[in-house]
Amino acid sequence: GIYVLVNSQGTSIGTIIFSLLPILLIGGLLFFMMRRSQGGINQAMMIGRSKAREVTESPEVRFDDVAGVDEAKQELMEIVEFLQTPEKFTKLGAKIPKGVLMVGLPGTGKTLISRAVAGEAGVPFFNTSGSEFVEMFVGVGASRVRDLFNKAKENAPSVIFIDEIDAIGRHRGSGVGGGHDEREQTLNQILVEMDGFDVNTNVIVIAATNRPDVLDPALIRPGRFDRQVVIDPPDVRGREAILNVHMEGKPIAANLDMKTLAKETAGFTGADLANLVNEAAILAARQSKTIIEYAEFEEAVDRVVAGPARKSRKVSEREKKLVAYHEAGHALVAAQLPDADPVHKVTIVARGATGGHTRMLPEEERNLWSKGQFEAMLAVMMGGHAAEEIVFGDVTTGASNDLEKATDVARKMVTEFGMSSELGPRTFSSGQQGQVFMGGALAQRQTHSDAIAHKIDTEISSLLGSARAKAQDVIEANMDRLQRLADKLIVQETLQGTELQDMLTGNISGGTQPAV
Ligand code: ADP
Ligand code: ZN
Ligand code: MG
Repeated sequence: GIYVLVNSQGTSIGTIIFSLLPILLIGGLLFFMMRRSQGGINQAMMIGRSKAREVTESPEVRFDDVAGVDEAKQELMEIVEFLQTPEKFTKLGAKIPKGVLMVGLPGTGKTLISRAVAGEAGVPFFNTSGSEFVEMFVGVGASRVRDLFNKAKENAPSVIFIDEIDAIGRHRGSGVGGGHDEREQTLNQILVEMDGFDVNTNVIVIAATNRPDVLDPALIRPGRFDRQVVIDPPDVRGREAILNVHMEGKPIAANLDMKTLAKETAGFTGADLANLVNEAAILAARQSKTIIEYAEFEEAVDRVVAGPARKSRKVSEREKKLVAYHEAGHALVAAQLPDADPVHKVTIVARGATGGHTRMLPEEERNLWSKGQFEAMLAVMMGGHAAEEIVFGDVTTGASNDLEKATDVARKMVTEFGMSSELGPRTFSSGQQGQVFMGGALAQRQTHSDAIAHKIDTEISSLLGSARAKAQDVIEANMDRLQRLADKLIVQETLQGTELQDMLTGNISGGTQPAV
């Protein structure tokens, strides 16, 4: 199996942002499929008053604690000014905004930065969540909202934060989930409260969501949540800055290669990075070390990406050999194709459900992907499958995850990116997507005939077939290299750095000439 973090969000907000697209390409040979079961902790239900925290002091968090989101900070700086010196604006007849909608994936720091707004302004922060309002007893939500807004007004200037606003602010009548009446009444009460603010009410309502597309239009009308601040997952510089924030005060090795660590963590959110630093610290402590070194971070990245190492799992010699060739296949194809990302690490240490994995290092932050890059990526994904077949004359279930991901990428190329010459530059929606999270009933419908659907399938197969052939060509032209790589993996289990680069592209006698 090869893992690719393919756009997990569907359509992004505003511009089409590819930064969520296959950023991180990791191969992992799957021994068996596992789904982590969602822990079923039933939260005790509490009815009644607003659970918004009663604290009326201002939060300690400052903008300095939030890294890598400079644009969002700039926009919110203005809100801080409104809270601190409203006269400056009202004197000129300017209306102070009432609501700000914070849009971003989970873990990108929406809560953190909202808290920092209150912190910077030195005003109280009333924190609540949309899901708290959605309870069984009709009428409770609305009274809680009233309660919350009254408290905020008593303590003005202040900030009200409503997390997961989509839990109550869904497009009315969208028919997803229960508790419509309760939701509507809660939503209406929020709108009533916000409409009731007069020019002198110095309360800013900040709401957060990762589903702006399902929100009721009434919420984003002027005078309500009419300002949107989009928080994207951090780019490479942002990740380095966030890592620095979380490393502060920890005993980190002085020579730690921050640039590589930032590159390695493509696709990580702020929350992932905070977690990564913590994991590394725990790993260092377990070994009774006094400083945290690169090795701990490397292990922590592997854990986040593929799960903890499974030292106890019994692996037969044959299986080990198979995994070694499979991963060597991915790595070799990646190293030999100029359009593919460079290989960072190859390992046959089993983690989670995988028997091993190959990790690539995106050279640059990409906002645009070319067809050639996608084709190279597909070939890399096929590298494991091809190596298995060439060497063992047979394929295993280990490649199933690779194939699934590759098919996904190929489908996107054809149906979303207009990269098929047969079908031309247009998009096709499958009618299946979006059903899970569908906000409005009309969200996605098949926009094309069955004949076209057939053509799409043919095109996908053809892209995959070419990728498979390309992988096979590369491997067959480099059989000696594949063998040396696999042999070394069986002995050493993990290869990285210059040693790996030499094996992948150096000449076969051990030199460092790049192969042609
Ligand atoms: P969200 O509300 O978007 O789901 P949170 O604000 O709850 O995300 O982020 C969770 C944690 O992740 C924060 O408490 C912080 O430790 C870390 N974090 C997230 N984004 C950043 C960032 N931009 N800078 C520093 N830390 C961050
Ligand atoms: Zn694989
Ligand atoms: Mg949050």
